[in-house]
Amino acid sequence: MNARLLSPIAAPEPARLLDTLAEITHKRDLEALDRSLLVSLAELVPVRAAALYKLAGDEGARRPLAEVVRALPDAGGAFRVASAAPTPQDADDAPLRECLASLRPLQCATARGGSRLLVPLHCDGHALGALALESAGELDGARLLVEGFARIYANYVALLHESERDKLTGLYNRRTFDRRLQRLIEQQRVDRASARAPGATDARRPHADGAHVWLAIFDIDHFKRVNDNFGHVYGDEVILMLSQRMKACFRRSDLLFRFGGEEFVVLLEPAPEAMARRALERFRESVAAQPFPQVGQVTVSLGYARMAPGDYPILVLDRADKALYYAKQHGRNRTCGYEALVAAGELDAPHHAGSVDLF
Ligand code: GH3
Ligand code: MG
Ligand code: MG
Repeated sequence: MNARLLSPIAAPEPARLLDTLAEITHKRDLEALDRSLLVSLAELVPVRAAALYKLAGDEGARRPLAEVVRALPDAGGAFRVASAAPTPQDADDAPLRECLASLRPLQCATARGGSRLLVPLHCDGHALGALALESAGELDGARLLVEGFARIYANYVALLHESERDKLTGLYNRRTFDRRLQRLIEQQRVDRASARAPGATDARRPHADGAHVWLAIFDIDHFKRVNDNFGHVYGDEVILMLSQRMKACFRRSDLLFRFGGEEFVVLLEPAPEAMARRALERFRESVAAQPFPQVGQVTVSLGYARMAPGDYPILVLDRADKALYYAKQHGRNRTCGYEALVAAGELDAPHHAGSVDLF
């Protein structure tokens, strides 16, 4: 293996290169794209490790790192990819910071000998992160190849980003909602399987502290009047301002969607009910308190429901929608929780799937 690592870097065959690019751009999911990029590079360039550093959020030059995806060889020499939160060393990584600040590639020596090549990932002057390759030998010969892959990756990420989002608000669109929900179900299935595994303790059970994922759906009150009185352009402006309020009010880890015209969905990260309700109420109150240009006061009604492991997501959406309908029927500009309404006898109890495992 050492001989391979130390041999000069040969340009890959064009056919192999095209095959690799086709493989990478076949991915429709960012996670799969990241993996494919790292494994492809690790296979094309003789490296001992490859990493993808991803910046948090969308704007600002000095954003913190959000995630580090690393490809490391296993005992058999095959590259395994794993994603993790950045470590304190990652945050203090001076060459990485320099590469991100200048948006230029740089090469440096590593502490354990060999070299490290850092290539920025950016699109329209906007930094997304950086690629890092580490090798026992020099990486000069690989620079152009890695830069090319970095450019293709950044363009493709921008494309994926656009297809996931609503054009007017930049929130995730309905299609992304379906995908994210699917991923959440798969995650819950894995969590449940591990909780059932022999030797599993309460601590390994998902949300053992009573926290749940909450699904909230909200709808603008009397929005037809806004359109009728001020026109669609003002209506769109209200939708845009509302989405900005959502981004400001909810946490970065909560997922925000424009579900339809003037309907929005929030998937709140696991929290006890009181906390989830507080977050939703805070949002509702802040909308009602914010004057909208020309239009004046706009209010929203919200319904939310618990998403427990094993719940069928479409049923959870339906429950949140029932709570929203209740809020509309009972004065609007309010937040209603489905489970509380059922407990109070205001709504019928949900139909249970019994012990049948729906997934
Ligand atoms: P309610 O309080 O019961 O929700 O009353 P509402 O008038 O808001 O009724 P509803 O939610 O059914 O009305 C939705 C209206 O929103 C219908 C449509 O004209 C308008 N709308 C939907 N999408 C858009 C959009 O993208 N832009 C604008 N300007 N208006 C939209
Ligand atoms: Mg509506
Ligand atoms: Mg409405």
